[in-house]
Amino acid sequence: MTQKFDAIIIGTGQAGPSLAARLSEARKTVAVIERHKFGGTCVNAGCIPTKTLVASAYAVHVAGRGAEYGFAIDGNVRVDMKRVKARKDEIVGRSNSGVENWLRGLSNCTVIQGHARFESSRSVRVNDEVLEADKIFINVGGRALVPSMPGLPDVPFFTNSSMIDVDFVPEHLIVVGGSYVGLEFAQMYRRFGSEVTIIEMGPRLIGREDEDASAAVREILEAEGIGIQLNAECLSLSRRADKVVATVSCKEGTPEVSGSHILLAVGRIPNTQDLGLEQAGVVTDQRGYITVDDELRTNVPGIWALGDCNGRGAFTHTAYNDYEIVAGNLLNADHRRVSDRIQTYALFIDPPLGRCGMTDAEIRKSGRRALVAKYPMERISRAVEKGEIQGFIKITVDAETKEILGAAILGTGGDEVIHVLLDVMYAKAPYTIVQRAMHIHPTVAEYLPTILSKLEPFA
Ligand SMILES: Cc1cc2nc3c(=O)[nH]c(=O)nc-3n(C[C@H](O)[C@H](O)[C@H](O)COP(=O)(O)OP(=O)(O)OC[C@H]3O[C@@H](n4cnc5c(N)ncnc54)[C@H](O)[C@@H]3O)c2cc1C
Repeated sequence: MTQKFDAIIIGTGQAGPSLAARLSEARKTVAVIERHKFGGTCVNAGCIPTKTLVASAYAVHVAGRGAEYGFAIDGNVRVDMKRVKARKDEIVGRSNSGVENWLRGLSNCTVIQGHARFESSRSVRVNDEVLEADKIFINVGGRALVPSMPGLPDVPFFTNSSMIDVDFVPEHLIVVGGSYVGLEFAQMYRRFGSEVTIIEMGPRLIGREDEDASAAVREILEAEGIGIQLNAECLSLSRRADKVVATVSCKEGTPEVSGSHILLAVGRIPNTQDLGLEQAGVVTDQRGYITVDDELRTNVPGIWALGDCNGRGAFTHTAYNDYEIVAGNLLNADHRRVSDRIQTYALFIDPPLGRCGMTDAEIRKSGRRALVAKYPMERISRAVEKGEIQGFIKITVDAETKEILGAAILGTGGDEVIHVLLDVMYAKAPYTIVQRAMHIHPTVAEYLPTILSKLEPFA
């Protein structure tokens, strides 16, 4: 049976549901197809569960510092992972059913559960049905990369999706991969009580960040007792009695890391290989990311790709911004483009790292004359009052235009404070505007004008 719609949306990640709502509002008929859980990665296996678990781990950490703040807990702080998981399940469950109920309640919107596969550039098969539309929006996201590694099939391992359902404290968690996902889990489980070792093949953690940010994050994690092995490529995994052993190629440190459990956090891949893209003629790059233009149109007229599957972003906010770009261009007569956006994200360890704009390496490569100011969190009174003095704030500006080029705020509230600078960047205003603003005392943000008064040549 063939059903016709004005639009088909494949996947209910961070772009699809909002686009369905906007199309429904415009009185278009829409079919939304989801093969697994409504809300996709962010809701079910990414941002929401991890940040909920990070919050539990933070509470445990602060409780353990009771003596510093002037209170005592009789006996040790005991983590009940079943309760931790139940709290996470409750918050995730509300979000997941919220997305599903929202979609099912939209007028002109048909929700279908099943795996979608293109049959042509205008048709998609799901279960026994063929759906047709002149406009098809792909929002299929991605999943954890599981590399082919000797021994992997014989060893039980976790990815981000299975790790969030753990309801016990592993004795010794080996985290393979020292980037954003790996570091959040590493710190969280250390705080829950696991011994944790991170194995990272690069010379530093979060290798895309500035060197000073990588070094400071390493110091923060090591201070909590997390073992870190850098320049260590994980070559194979094996089982030895009740242990899992990672064999690594390394110049320093031990060539074998033994633990009770393994988390693989070595990157993500797009869900595009089983979508029948070749039937539709949609082109991908070598890694499987769908090739799109500045308005997220694929090479086939009438087909768009939004979110992680287009390789133009790897965050919930970039996927949502993709929706805004497509809806703006198609339905709001608002010409929006991917190239209008400014890179921004956070690493949600504690303290968090908020980032916007260019990295030091990108600024150097651009050849622009720049100025930079860096300030330690330990000199910011709000951080001192909270007892959270790790990290620093760094802001780089263009020496000629005075526009902010980039910033890193590693410290308490860094994930929020970064938006002060980001919004000034969007306004294309000079940094001096921040210096004229009156900020609230006592906050971290109130120091931004002071920091900007210390700009020096960027080397
Ligand atoms: C552990 C972890 C933590 C993260 N934390 C953050 C964070 O703090 N902040 C942040 O901004 N980002 C974070 N991210 C990234 C964020 O989750 C993703 O960038 C975001 O979810 C991408 O959304 P999306 O719309 O591209 O697709 P997804 O959310 O991946 O959704 C795609 C949907 O499509 C469905 N689907 C796939 N193929 C088909 C098919 N053929 N037919 C039907 N349905 C299909 C899938 O089942 C899925 O539901 C995190 C990611 C992970 C893994």
